[in-house]
Amino acid sequence: MKILTTKKIILVGGGIGGTATALALYRAGFEPIVYERTATLREVGAGVALWANATHVLKELGVLDDVLRESDLITNYQFFSQMGKELMNLCINHFEVPAVTIHRADLQALLWRKLSSEHLCFGSDV
Ligand SMILES: Cc1cc2nc3c(=O)[nH]c(=O)nc-3n(C[C@H](O)[C@H](O)[C@H](O)COP(=O)(O)OP(=O)(O)OC[C@H]3O[C@@H](n4cnc5c(N)ncnc54)[C@H](O)[C@@H]3O)c2cc1C
Repeated sequence: MKILTTKKIILVGGGIGGTATALALYRAGFEPIVYERTATLREVGAGVALWANATHVLKELGVLDDVLRESDLITNYQFFSQMGKELMNLCINHFEVPAVTIHRADLQALLWRKLSSEHLCFGSDV
């Protein structure tokens, strides 16, 4: 008789990258465990812009609706010269999923909440 076991996968670092990867692995049937050296969430950075490629991944991970509740939509990217002259105005609201801006710490906290506690081990320097 063939015995099937769930493959455990260790990820070092519970930043946006590590946590998103863990969510994807969990959805693919693996058992990820993220080891994060910090004991608590610290305020990191400021607002991050998530373009449609990123929100598409968040949709696949099943977290886009939560992200949309905590973010603001971006419709255009504008660049200006030091004199205030508009150099570029790029319309980015025509994709299947929206581009948004969200505080980096809010995104990280949201991803952490989506992982159950047995998949996230804080205070573990690897
Ligand atoms: C101010 C700012 C603005 C940004 N704006 C944008 C933006 O607009 N759009 C965009 O797409 N990106 C933006 N970025 C970049 C984006 O935030 C990063 O690319 C992304 O957060 C990197 O995620 P990460 O998980 O790879 O790394 P990190 O977030 O650095 O996470 C690494 C984690 O690993 C942990 N760790 C490290 N070593 C160990 C160890 N030995 N043992 C255990 N844990 C460990 C750390 O504590 C940390 O939590 C911005 C970044 C900053 C700082």
